[in-house]
Amino acid sequence: MTARPPVYEKFREVQEELDRSGAAIFRDHDGVESLVIRSPYSINYIHSYAEDSEFFLALADGKLRGSKCTAKKCGYVYATPRGHCMECGAPTQWVDLPLKGRLHSWTTCHFGSEAFLKETPYNLALVEFDGVGSVLLARLKDCTESELYVGMPVEARFSPTPKYSITDVWFVPARSEA
Ligand SMILES: [Zn+2]
Repeated sequence: MTARPPVYEKFREVQEELDRSGAAIFRDHDGVESLVIRSPYSINYIHSYAEDSEFFLALADGKLRGSKCTAKKCGYVYATPRGHCMECGAPTQWVDLPLKGRLHSWTTCHFGSEAFLKETPYNLALVEFDGVGSVLLARLKDCTESELYVGMPVEARFSPTPKYSITDVWFVPARSEA
């Protein structure tokens, strides 16, 4: 008596449903079927902003906080949270950044992660500020790519419903240069 391979039929319901959604490929180039399953999962990632907390708390209050080197001979100002100066290694202290700046550079994203798909294509800008040595990366809204130029005045906007994320701030073209 020769052993016959078992025949499994029940799984085809799942496979067909996956196939309709375009999610599954279940034959290899030799026509061999493989089992494909759908396993949704989610995760709550709880983590501390630690010394960066003030930056995100300030966004919720409509403020941009940068870091200034405390060494008198240096005094470098960063547009992002920094515990210590990258020029001289001295500790930094928090400083308010201007809410108006200029477009240093940008890229237009024609694809993005799931959170940004609805607003794709969107512009990501590097914003420079008077008296600040480094730039801030944020979205630039209310304008099209063809309107953008290096040095364009921009101003910050803040989310009325903060998520304590860098997406709580974005920039728009400045209404006036005053
Ligand atoms: Zn320094």
